[in-house]
Amino acid sequence: MNMRISFGQKLIFSFCLVILVSFSFIAFFLDKNLEENSLQNIQASLIAQAKLIEVQITAKSLKQEDVASLEKLVKVLSPKTKCRITIINTKGKVLADSEKSEEDVLRMENHLYRLEVKTALGGSIGADTRYSSTLKIDMLYVALPIKEGNTTLGVLRLAVTLESVQKTLFAIRKTVLLGLLFALGLAFVLGSLMARIAIKPINRMIQVSRKFSEGDFSRRILQPSRDEIGELAVALNKMAQDIENKIKEIKTQNQKLSAIFNSMIEGVIVIAKTGYIVSINSTIEKIFGVTKDIVEGKVFLEAIRNNDIAEIINAVLKKGELLSKEITLIYPVHRIFEVSAAPIFDNDAIAGCLVVIHDITEIRRLETVRSDFVANVSHELKTPLTSIKGFVETLLEGALDDKENNRNFLKIIQDHAERLNNLVEDLLSLSHLESKEITLNKKNFNLKQQLEDVISGFTSQLKKKNIELKNELPVNIFVAADKDRIEHVFINLLDNAIKFNKERGSIRIYFQEIKGGIKIIVEDSGVGIPEKDIPRIFERFYRVDKARSRELGGTGLGLSIVKHIIELHNGSVGVESTEGFGSKFWFILPT
Ligand code: ADP
Repeated sequence: MNMRISFGQKLIFSFCLVILVSFSFIAFFLDKNLEENSLQNIQASLIAQAKLIEVQITAKSLKQEDVASLEKLVKVLSPKTKCRITIINTKGKVLADSEKSEEDVLRMENHLYRLEVKTALGGSIGADTRYSSTLKIDMLYVALPIKEGNTTLGVLRLAVTLESVQKTLFAIRKTVLLGLLFALGLAFVLGSLMARIAIKPINRMIQVSRKFSEGDFSRRILQPSRDEIGELAVALNKMAQDIENKIKEIKTQNQKLSAIFNSMIEGVIVIAKTGYIVSINSTIEKIFGVTKDIVEGKVFLEAIRNNDIAEIINAVLKKGELLSKEITLIYPVHRIFEVSAAPIFDNDAIAGCLVVIHDITEIRRLETVRSDFVANVSHELKTPLTSIKGFVETLLEGALDDKENNRNFLKIIQDHAERLNNLVEDLLSLSHLESKEITLNKKNFNLKQQLEDVISGFTSQLKKKNIELKNELPVNIFVAADKDRIEHVFINLLDNAIKFNKERGSIRIYFQEIKGGIKIIVEDSGVGIPEKDIPRIFERFYRVDKARSRELGGTGLGLSIVKHIIELHNGSVGVESTEGFGSKFWFILPT
């Protein structure tokens, strides 16, 4: 079991250990010293008493072994000295003992070999501590030789119980033990108190550190003291500040990256090694009609059902090589994409794959438009050229001499050359209008006046078809525009209005003031345009009836030139028409 020992417990434990060890030392030495000291004191006083008693023992009574007088002496002195007094002869025989009667003394065993007796018989003072089997208690024995001159006559032995010594020692031990208990109690209380004081800032640090680990770096630890704990608090605060700064930095970086990621025109998908979608950008959301929250974390094919892309991803994740492929999407939108997938490496191992989806529908459309345009131009050029070639050949083969037809043939050749010229001119204007360098030469001029000039150029054509034309523009209508180009617009629109008009038809040119500009309308009573052709009528080479248009000398570029010129003026063009009843072509010039 992994038991948690708190700092407080450890502190208390250390306090107690120190107290226990020091008390044990003190107790041990005190006890030992006291015991020795007391014994020595008692021994010294016993020796002194023995010396006093020895003086009262007569050599005669010893020599004659006058047991009765000796007995009397020990019995009198014993209560006074509070000692047991024993007199032993040189042979170890007990002659008198204060604790025994005369008869008992006779039965006492020989004392020759008792340590203290032996020493005394040797001439010096003997001492011994022993358990007395007679009295069933620890006793201190002191023995003195009783001398006459140099001859030892016997031994005087004094004995006291060590009861008092033991009592004193016991009392001291009790005091020491009580002291120990008190010290331990104090250690416990002080330890807890100190631990609490010491732990308080640590606990606060733990709390704040927990907040740090939860990602809340706004808290700071108040520096509790100038010691190591204080330093730790300072270090923790600095760490939190550093982490907070780093997180802020990473956040701004992430924001920047995600801003770039989401504002990219290309669709981006990040795939993990396992084939799961890690992230997609908003372009992908738009293309596939999905949302980030739903697809992220899902397997690609489960989230975005596109087999082609899934195959590319699988191949890249397998081989770790860049792969690029064009795919066509039918659902949810019909589009063409260039899909490029690159492996992401982490320490040389494939960690995922980055898919970039580039919408090339417009590029492909422009390519088609361009090739269609080239095909159209070639076709348009070929028709008059074939005719010219044919008639020139006919003339060369003899028709030149055919007085009736040769002028006719040359007239046809001239017409076709004229058409070629028109076509080339229109193509040049168109390419000039489409080039980026074009600048408009804007001037303020009277629009009605300009229209009048254009109309005068069409007089013969109008007469031919008997068409009535009304210029209903107000006299003082002024616009700031490129005069030559607006003239081009009028020419093209009027040309069409006449070409596609009926005999004795009419044309009306009028204007409407609208918000932010003026709207000029060219209304004719011609053949009109079928509804299905209206949306494409401004496209290059688009004609309702190709043969008829050609026959009328049209190039199919007139309206797209009009559109370009008006759009260069930031305006717009349009048409309203009912087949068989006429058309209303209009353009708006911003003012
Ligand atoms: P085109 O040289 O053939 O006139 P445009 O670009 O000027 O070429 O016009 C394209 C086509 O638009 C014409 O071929 C014709 O079918 C149709 N269109 C243009 N203007 C009129 C109109 N006023 N009435 C009917 N159809 C028109």
